[in-house]
Amino acid sequence: MNETAKRARAAIDLAAVRSNVRALRARAPRAELMAVVKSDGYGHGAVPCARAAREAGAGWLGTALPEEAFALRAAGDTGRLMCWLWTPGGPWRTAVEQDIDVSVSGLWALREVAEAARACGRAARVQLKVDTGLGRNGCQPADWSRLTSAARAAEAEGVLTVTGVWSHFACADEPGHPSIAAQLTAFEEALKTADAAGLRPEVRHIANTPALLTLPEAHFDLVRAGIGIYGISPSPELGTPQDFGLRPAMTLEASLASVKRVPGGHGVSYGHQYTTPGETTLALIPLGYADGIPRHASGTGPVLVAGKWRTVAGRIAMDQFVVDLGGDGAEPGDPAVLFGPGDRGEPTAEDWARAAGTIGYEIVTRIGTRVPRVYVDSGIQGEAEAAEGDSALTGGTA
Ligand SMILES: *Cc1c(COP(=O)(O)O)cnc(C)c1O
Repeated sequence: MNETAKRARAAIDLAAVRSNVRALRARAPRAELMAVVKSDGYGHGAVPCARAAREAGAGWLGTALPEEAFALRAAGDTGRLMCWLWTPGGPWRTAVEQDIDVSVSGLWALREVAEAARACGRAARVQLKVDTGLGRNGCQPADWSRLTSAARAAEAEGVLTVTGVWSHFACADEPGHPSIAAQLTAFEEALKTADAAGLRPEVRHIANTPALLTLPEAHFDLVRAGIGIYGISPSPELGTPQDFGLRPAMTLEASLASVKRVPGGHGVSYGHQYTTPGETTLALIPLGYADGIPRHASGTGPVLVAGKWRTVAGRIAMDQFVVDLGGDGAEPGDPAVLFGPGDRGEPTAEDWARAAGTIGYEIVTRIGTRVPRVYVDSGIQGEAEAAEGDSALTGGTA
């Protein structure tokens, strides 16, 4: 282990990422898969995860910010790549020069990208986004006809190609929610309008991970998978990662910074929210909210230390927190596992989400830059990968 990783580390299992991408592709066999690697790959590291996803057959990569897309190009990625969160005056020209698909939700953005494309003498790849009900980005259905016609006119002029029409779900993680069917209907309508305007997009897409997992009729030509490629279930109500053949890729561990005996009645951490019930052993874990450990999990977050789950004792501070080992012993430097895949007895990111009143997405994405990412390859093969291997080999044995 390198020295910076001695205090704490987020070990990222790239074999798990590859296996998850294969498992997700197997669930959407007629669609291409876009691996969403925004926000540094949900905290896992965008570039290594993007590479792993490409190796496992992701035809597309997706980011929110243009700068995130440029970083992937700078790292050598040459495949299809889309980014969707733009503001006026954004780096359209760089995106056009780097063959990045850009999302356009309104006429201002269409104007800006067309101008950039004229300036660099190259057609932009534009994906038009329609708001089918999420109420976030996207063109309102009332304005959709104007946007699609204007895009078609720009296409005829040769400054851009409309490569995609797309949208995003509000409640895909709640199967049966009435907004899901309403959004699908609105999307079909929007596709007809685009077609009537003369647009022939290469890809139509609306599915995120929960829709990929539960809603085959939403797969269209492309599915955008974020949380699933990192092996985390979009919501505990939908199922566990294992239910979908997914494996959590991140394991967050630290080395104990202190282990000491203290008498009963000893206050622990700021505010003395915890007091030792009797003489006991306290272990200090050198991770805090500056590292992304949610302060809301004070008194509730689970950690595997010395073979058992412990609970955060008292408040999580900026750099550290304490667990009470009761009658058990440990040594400084012993491992503390905050979360991982869960199959070695450790808690999962989902357990931390429950403890902090949030979602697994936020737990992994907020792990701070102070925590080194260490890339490992467990060599695990998902079921899909094993099946591919079987078909490629004759007479192979397990
Ligand atoms: C983040 C994001 C996704 C991925 O969502 P997951 O639930 O993580 O699969 C897909 N599409 C858009 C527009 C997003 O912002």
